[in-house]
Amino acid sequence: MKRTIVEVILALALVGAGFFGWTNWKQNQAATGQVATLKAASEEATKAAADTAGAVKAAETEMAALREEMAPLEGKVQQLEAVKAAMANGTTLADLEAAYKSQKNLSAERQVGLGALRMLTKGADDPAAMDAFRKALQMSELGDRKNTICAAQIGLAAAGEKVAIMAECLSKGAKAQGDKAEKSGHDDKAAEKDGHADSDAKDDGHGKPGDKKAAAKHAGHWGYDGAMGPAQWGKEFPTCAKGKSQSPLDIRGPFVKARVVVTADYKEGPLKMINNGHTIQVNVVPGSKLRVDGVPHDLLQFHFHRPSEEKIDGKPMSMVVHFVHKNAAGKLAVLGVLLKEGNENPGIKTLWTHMPTEEGPEVAPEGVNFNPGNLLPREFDYYSYEGSLTTPPCTEGVRFFILKTTVNVAKEQVNSFPFKLNARPVQALNGREILTN
Ligand SMILES: [Zn+2]
Repeated sequence: MKRTIVEVILALALVGAGFFGWTNWKQNQAATGQVATLKAASEEATKAAADTAGAVKAAETEMAALREEMAPLEGKVQQLEAVKAAMANGTTLADLEAAYKSQKNLSAERQVGLGALRMLTKGADDPAAMDAFRKALQMSELGDRKNTICAAQIGLAAAGEKVAIMAECLSKGAKAQGDKAEKSGHDDKAAEKDGHADSDAKDDGHGKPGDKKAAAKHAGHWGYDGAMGPAQWGKEFPTCAKGKSQSPLDIRGPFVKARVVVTADYKEGPLKMINNGHTIQVNVVPGSKLRVDGVPHDLLQFHFHRPSEEKIDGKPMSMVVHFVHKNAAGKLAVLGVLLKEGNENPGIKTLWTHMPTEEGPEVAPEGVNFNPGNLLPREFDYYSYEGSLTTPPCTEGVRFFILKTTVNVAKEQVNSFPFKLNARPVQALNGREILTN
């Protein structure tokens, strides 16, 4: 139990204070007053407090070690302070849940935070904590929110769930913690986790519009040019360099005949968008499906690249939309729709009206619905191949279907996309077959 809480607090600290939403929470909490919601949960919190005080102390010791090693962790240390302060005040889970409930859509980071707080107050085997971690994982694993993924995986592992922790969540600083954990008599290998602090951190208050350096810094360990460009991704995300089935591809013949039938059944739902520092991503409510030979794959999110990552016979298009899906077996499928310069695209017009032009948390404009099907062409002829996520960690085992029919996008629309270049270069085919129907 003690070990668990330490792990979760550390994992939490890695998510980033702004991202996690402590700031909002504290404001919200101040506004609603501390007294009203305390009653029911306060007993439990008091019970947990004895455990928690010890755990916070242990976490503090470990955090002190981390602090020495990594100055950039400072901001995250403040988050630990927030956790401590919250526990000391007798602030309870009920407060946090109430604060979160008043917000419409809970981001992956807040799910992690909620899971962690539940563990702190209700113990390691609280099913709702596990649910929160699972949800966070599902929401973030297809994006590039590495630290959120790590925190959720660590949270689940700490709760006793058999979950693989990504290699990218393990690092030098964490190794030191792991070793210390051994010394202090705990045997949990999950303690070896990412000591990196700045990836995906969303510290409040910096970053001016057009300040690309700041944006790149915020977005974390990778980007699209210079020292953090695609050629360097492999240093931190080995699959990006060593993988043999990487995406995107330059699509050219000879082709193999494809027999798989692909259809999309996308539904309208409330619009939720995030500028994650690497792209504009639209997170989708459950219900939209891609059927691959009848097998349903749930649409999770879609996002944009400029120019298109895929090339056809060596030529890129202005942009591409990647629709990311997952089936019940966990297999990922990406449907790519190439955007070609031409008339204005009404679907994109709606999205661009509401998109956050600066990196930040998810936004959900009041009363705005969107149907992802608005971005699809009528014809569904495709090229298909086995590939990978085109952003770190470049996970393989992703089936790509790139539609042959392009969709229009106006030049002005391309120009107002906040990322000038967010396309990974094409990767080696390495003997893979490209199919076409
Ligand atoms: Zn993509």
